[in-house]
Amino acid sequence: MTTVEAQPVEATLIRRPMFVEVVASRLLTPHLRRITVTGAELDRFAYEGPDQLARIFLAPAPDVELHLPDSEQWWPGIQAMPAELQPVVRNYTVRRLDAGRREMDIDFVLHGDGGPASAWARRAAPGDRIGVLSDGADYAPPADTDWQLLVGDETALPAITAAIEALPPDARAIALIEVGSAEDEIEVRTPVGVTLTWLHRGDTQAGGSDVVIRTLRELALPAGTPYAFVAGESTMVTTVRRHLCTERRIAKERVYFAGYWKVSAH
Ligand SMILES: Cc1cc2nc3c(=O)[nH]c(=O)nc-3n(C[C@H](O)[C@H](O)[C@H](O)COP(=O)(O)OP(=O)(O)OC[C@H]3O[C@@H](n4cnc5c(N)ncnc54)[C@H](O)[C@@H]3O)c2cc1C
Repeated sequence: MTTVEAQPVEATLIRRPMFVEVVASRLLTPHLRRITVTGAELDRFAYEGPDQLARIFLAPAPDVELHLPDSEQWWPGIQAMPAELQPVVRNYTVRRLDAGRREMDIDFVLHGDGGPASAWARRAAPGDRIGVLSDGADYAPPADTDWQLLVGDETALPAITAAIEALPPDARAIALIEVGSAEDEIEVRTPVGVTLTWLHRGDTQAGGSDVVIRTLRELALPAGTPYAFVAGESTMVTTVRRHLCTERRIAKERVYFAGYWKVSAH
């Protein structure tokens, strides 16, 4: 569960990078590692919703100490550092924040050592230090929403599962989540009105499958006013958005979409 009750008033919440330390690291599936961090300031990490963006800051090389910019203007702060000290910055979702215990979980997709964040997560061990920054949340179903459509690949699994956990017991939602295979599924507790379907891309590489759009095209959508949250690989996300807005005639403002990563050309 996401714990936000212990947070103090808005004015004291922190939106600049802060140091945290790994306290636990465990595989949820062969390709998803949950890393738990703790930090003296995590009780004041601004938490605004289930898809809360945590920018993470990693040391630029194993033998270089991690330096963090010390203001909310973190990007100019990084630019002002000598090139060899500039941290690597990547985007992740806060899967769980327990402000009282000053603890946070982040679930990292392990997609190989070609990406610094994935490579770091594979080896992360208690005592490792990184930086985290609270940088907003976007999932926001309007009050008149009758049902929700939550679509994503494994990078959106933390946001979608946190959104499902935050739903009221009488909510209606359809969740479609693309993963490699059955071994990449995790247990998600769903209220009675929520249907979660795992979609397997099989041997197709991440970002290369059309299983999400094929499934969506065949899906009978409920009547009533929807809200859609679509996140994951960029091409999948834009294809799904186009389908929802043109073929299903869902109003653009009721479809939130975000490219969480992009297949690179090489
Ligand atoms: C708002 C937001 C929230 C996000 N939340 C999460 C989250 O909670 N958990 C999570 O795991 N990711 C999340 N992501 C996605 C994550 O930021 C990207 O996957 C990021 O590229 C990983 O960085 P990296 O250093 O491992 O790889 P990069 O250095 O960025 O990329 C290296 C190579 O890996 C490829 N690549 C990147 N990501 C993937 C992937 N998932 N599968 C296959 N190939 C990939 C790229 O195409 C590139 O070729 C989120 C992104 C956004 C914008």
